[in-house]
Amino acid sequence: MSARIIDGKRLAAETRAEIAAGVASLKAEKGVTPGLAVILVGDDPASVSYVTAKEKACREAGMLSREIRMPADASENEVLEQVRALNADPAIHGILVQLPLPRGISEKKVIDAIAPEKDVDGFTPVNVGRMLIGDDCFLPCTPHGIMKLIEIAGMDVSGKHAVVIGRSNIVGKPVAVLLSRKGKGANATVTLCHTGTPDIAAHTRTADVVVVAAGRPGTLTGDMLKPGAVVIDVGVNRVPDASRPRGYRLCGDADFDSCAAVAAAITPVPGGVGPMTITMLLWNTLKAARSAI
Ligand code: NAP
Repeated sequence: MSARIIDGKRLAAETRAEIAAGVASLKAEKGVTPGLAVILVGDDPASVSYVTAKEKACREAGMLSREIRMPADASENEVLEQVRALNADPAIHGILVQLPLPRGISEKKVIDAIAPEKDVDGFTPVNVGRMLIGDDCFLPCTPHGIMKLIEIAGMDVSGKHAVVIGRSNIVGKPVAVLLSRKGKGANATVTLCHTGTPDIAAHTRTADVVVVAAGRPGTLTGDMLKPGAVVIDVGVNRVPDASRPRGYRLCGDADFDSCAAVAAAITPVPGGVGPMTITMLLWNTLKAARSAI
């Protein structure tokens, strides 16, 4: 292996320490404690574990954390009522609705109901639009974390070719927008690949940075890379592994060994993009609290 490991855990810890200091000074100077509310509908185990991790991170940063648990058979109206109540609650600066929602509840309606000034996930049309035109906004957490990881990898993407694999609204599309924005830390020439792209390797072989967010192990392999490229692996996949106590292990979308042999730097899974996602959620919650004063 020749690639440097881009340490998401370390960057997350450093950024969280900065956020905690920001929270402490906001409390001391303005008497305001940033508050994040998380709505969890149902008891999907993965969602419960994400929500638990978010609450823990929130408390560690000195923020107020409020969890609203609703049964899986809650109605759309009940969920919308909760969102509206939190929109009006001055102790809450950020609202997050854990996705996916149970069938029968429109995710779009629920997300659209979040007040844009409390939309710390950056998912409402107002924040997405602001991001697109380059206005101040809450950037979506995973893409924002990815931009920070590319920065600490030592890559200035300006004038470089970046390939993004995956075009979801929460990862691929916003990453492509952020990489191509005019300005410092961006200004890349971006190619966005998806299942309709006939020959993805033809694009990745000319890429200086590859962000892979397809949700499929092995989407990116070393033979698809230009030597010296930076690889950001967003995927989180469970693959069966009888040698592990849980019977599975986590892996990304990039074949780690073959990519690490060719790349200059690569994010591991776990320990790369994942820790930065919650960190940028805290970042946005602090920003929301500061803006509310
Ligand atoms: P998603 O909504 O399922 O979107 C996947 C995208 O990848 C789609 O645009 C799809 O193309 C494309 N795709 C799938 N297979 C492909 C292939 N073989 N070649 C090219 N493109 C392909 O997934 P997502 O929400 O963006 O998440 C992607 C991965 O990142 C998942 O593993 C998820 O768990 C992980 N994730 C991690 C974090 C984190 O914090 N670490 C956060 C979010 C997501 P089409 O549009 O053509 O179908």
